[in-house]
Amino acid sequence: MKAVRAAVRHSGHVDYPRRLQGRRAWGRKRTALSIAALTLGVLLGAGTGNPAAAQTVRLFDGQGGLGTSAVQAFAQDRDGFLYIGGHAGLYVSSGGEFTRVDVGDHGNLTDVGALAASETSDQLMVVAHDGVWLRADGAFRHVSLPVSGHRMRVAALAHDFIVMDERGALWRVRSRKNEDPLVERFALTAPGNSTLVDDVALDASSLGSLAVQADTLWMGCGGGALCRVRNGALVVFGKQQGVPAETWSALTAASDGGVIARGAAHLLRIGAKDDVHAEPLPSRSSNVGNSRPSFVVEMQDGSMVTSIGEALMARSPDGAWREMDSLPGYGRRDVTAAFVDRENGLWLAGAERGVMRVAGFPFWKSVSLQDEHAPSHVSIVHREGGNAVWLAASNGLFRYAISEGGDLTTPLAHFDIDVKSMVRSTDGALWIIEKSGTLLRLDVLTGRVQRLASLSSLTGALDVDSAGRLWIGTMTGLVRLDDPVHPPARLPRPLSLRDRRVNALSLDQFGRLLVLTDTVLFRQKAAEDVFDPQIDVEEQGIGAGRLMAVSTNNDVWIAGERGGVRKVTLPEEGEATVTGADGVHGQGLVQALFRDSRGWIWMGGLQGLDILSPSGWTHMDTSSGLTSNAILPGAISEDDDGTMWFGTEGGLSRLTDPAHLPALPQLHTRITSARLGSVDLLSRPMDEAEGHQELRLEYVAPTFVGHGSLRYHYHLMPLDEDEHETSAMFVTWPDMKGKQISFDVQAVDVLYGRSATAASFHAAQTKGASFTTRMIVWGFCGILVLVVGGVITFRAVAAARRRHIEQAVRGRTRFMEEMQAQLRQQSRVDVLTGLLNRRAVCDELESLMNSIGPDDLMAVALIDIDHFKAINDTLGHQGGDFVLEQYGHRLRQGSGVGAVPGRYGGEELIVVFTSFPSVQALTTQVGRLHELLREPLVYEGHEIIVTCSIGLAVRIPGDTPGRIVGRADRALYRGKRNGRNCVVMAD
Ligand code: GH3
Ligand code: MG
Ligand code: MG
Repeated sequence: MKAVRAAVRHSGHVDYPRRLQGRRAWGRKRTALSIAALTLGVLLGAGTGNPAAAQTVRLFDGQGGLGTSAVQAFAQDRDGFLYIGGHAGLYVSSGGEFTRVDVGDHGNLTDVGALAASETSDQLMVVAHDGVWLRADGAFRHVSLPVSGHRMRVAALAHDFIVMDERGALWRVRSRKNEDPLVERFALTAPGNSTLVDDVALDASSLGSLAVQADTLWMGCGGGALCRVRNGALVVFGKQQGVPAETWSALTAASDGGVIARGAAHLLRIGAKDDVHAEPLPSRSSNVGNSRPSFVVEMQDGSMVTSIGEALMARSPDGAWREMDSLPGYGRRDVTAAFVDRENGLWLAGAERGVMRVAGFPFWKSVSLQDEHAPSHVSIVHREGGNAVWLAASNGLFRYAISEGGDLTTPLAHFDIDVKSMVRSTDGALWIIEKSGTLLRLDVLTGRVQRLASLSSLTGALDVDSAGRLWIGTMTGLVRLDDPVHPPARLPRPLSLRDRRVNALSLDQFGRLLVLTDTVLFRQKAAEDVFDPQIDVEEQGIGAGRLMAVSTNNDVWIAGERGGVRKVTLPEEGEATVTGADGVHGQGLVQALFRDSRGWIWMGGLQGLDILSPSGWTHMDTSSGLTSNAILPGAISEDDDGTMWFGTEGGLSRLTDPAHLPALPQLHTRITSARLGSVDLLSRPMDEAEGHQELRLEYVAPTFVGHGSLRYHYHLMPLDEDEHETSAMFVTWPDMKGKQISFDVQAVDVLYGRSATAASFHAAQTKGASFTTRMIVWGFCGILVLVVGGVITFRAVAAARRRHIEQAVRGRTRFMEEMQAQLRQQSRVDVLTGLLNRRAVCDELESLMNSIGPDDLMAVALIDIDHFKAINDTLGHQGGDFVLEQYGHRLRQGSGVGAVPGRYGGEELIVVFTSFPSVQALTTQVGRLHELLREPLVYEGHEIIVTCSIGLAVRIPGDTPGRIVGRADRALYRGKRNGRNCVVMAD
């Protein structure tokens, strides 16, 4: 048995046990050391994939040719694609892989100095060495500006782009269909009158920064002023408005509609109401004034990041500055560009350092306690009121002082206790069950440790009820301690559940005790010590019951020894129901299950965390900011202020503001390159390629989290009708002979259950060019013959040639038309279900909405097959496909006249209803459709029943296609929450 060494009380404060003597003095040094260690770890971690250190940082270098060359610009388009421009050219990211983007036939982009992406379209503006380019509808066009030079600035307004040339003149650029972009001088009018302001007069020397939010443009406009342009009207913010006279060389649009600007000595914020706040930058030992800040960015919580002197500094929303210490090499003014993506990832580009993405900043922190005496493998954190925390680690129980910023600073006490679980009783004492299975009471004030003898070994299950009584799980039943303030020397006998091993205890929303044993889940009867069996855990296929947590709606989550979790719903009367954990990604073994004060359920395993909040399940792992994906057993805890702590294999992780976690954006798929031999089919016709060459298609989907979980589903017609799945971002066919190519690809994020919008590519040989060429050659031969043969023959032959050419042209036109119709058909119909595909059905929806009258009825039903993953799991993917095919068949049969059924994506189907007499009639019709869809199917001789849930939205005034589908989707979601297999009407 371990000797317990306790702290001894001296005049009201905790003294240091002997082992800690002498460590106090170097407490500070130790912190400094561990920062250095962490810093080094980051360097190593980033470079070599060492999981132990700072996984939050991901260094992208040498990928896709991006290398470590200087990066100068970032932009993210409407679809979430992130673009990086720099010396080596332009790159588009997909979860961290970068693919080069070039301007097709026009050649390569080099030295990209500025980028801007539209938030409303796929348009992208690129300032490169050889000029300015605008990409619209997938093709790049050159922007002919009357001025040249590649040090221009660009910004995207709602409908067009603004270019600021090197002299400070502004140009408006707008894309036009099939024409070169329109370039106009961007005229400004001074406030109060309509005089045109000569923008060159805006002191070009300090121009050079632009920031845009919706239709508002901000720029540094010389003489230490900042200028705002809205609807062509200029407002100058200068000294009189309280703006210090500085060069505002870094700007960013603030989330409130204002702007944030960085000068040499001040940080400036102009709010939405034109309120000006200037604050001096924190002074640093390194020279502040000598650097020209190149960036300032705002994070989702309002924190700002900029470089000051040599350091990379972060300012929290409450105004506290601190150095971002975990970013080696980037704490320099040579950060050339920074950017915050929509998943709240901070991108930094440093000269010769490549690009780095910091995930989880500022919400996640890794707490590094790495020297040999420090707590290692911390599993429980218990915040004591005031500024101290208890850490239960594999090398004992520690008490640490915690600083304002939440850092663990000084070790205050250490106890040689190997904690398995811990609760605090009403008198403030810590009750601890040791790994060896004994119960201890630790008086926090005196440091006195009292050991309670027990007849039976304890399992670790421990809880305090509302009456302050302590409930303890043992190998042979449940023990209750009625007066924990005056504990007896030995534990009483098990009072109940005799001979059962009690593994977990929880109180439900009514304060009743739930008891999880190896084989049965019990619930306490209101009448005290009677426990009713609720479910047979053995039947659930998760092995013996091990962990438990109760959500705010009184669902009980249990995890088993063999892996897997189940949700148990315990009604007041009647049978309990058990369901799987839908939406949780493949959690193998659950090591920790925790309910926080918000009522969220936190589940930790070996692949990070899954969190159930009111918005459904969220997954978080190292790519979100967690230190390591391996959560230690029982190692999730919450402290007083709602901060979550996670003990992981790689150290302690802290999440300060769970509510701020960004929702994952929608995924899109994009085809970035299609080459046949050496011909780029995205910009040149297929005719220019000779047959029998290698076809190579490249595609990407934007995500910065869980990239490893992206799969691409594709099929290539007419070579291959089958759908394939790959995790590679390209496919090749060595010997492409066909005359047409039709390629569809869709990215699916299997980890988060997101599927992307699909992308498709079509190309066909027209034969036109070569045929015409031949005709011309023959024509010349004919002329030669005619000259020799005389005028009459000339006429005859010429007429014949003309007829021939006309015929050929007609034939060619017909061929083209047929081909186009075929392609249109192919690209509109989903091969598996025979229904319209998503794009086609969305087109239909849009044109129907535009064409019907305001009083005509219209509705959208979204149909999602229930537990389809389980169908795939049991019948195989082919079985799943069979079900989908049958659903498609039934939907075509049963949707009724005037209805347009389609496949919305994956196993989600959609029907657009138009010709129905009343909402009543529609609900009857949809009810019947639901009946039809869930009729038994026969697959390989087995009858299977596959149900679905339907969300139905009837058009209301103001509905757009997006809105009505959104409402149907929310109704569907409610249907899923309410147990599936139902039709739910949107409000
Ligand atoms: P829920 O009742 O909540 O809808 O559960 P579910 O299992 O159906 O969950 P979800 O809708 O998220 O699962 C969709 C699954 O459908 C995931 C994906 O693997 C599968 N899937 C998507 N497209 C296809 C397909 O074309 N064929 C097959 N066999 N499976 C598909
Ligand atoms: Mg689905
Ligand atoms: Mg489903």
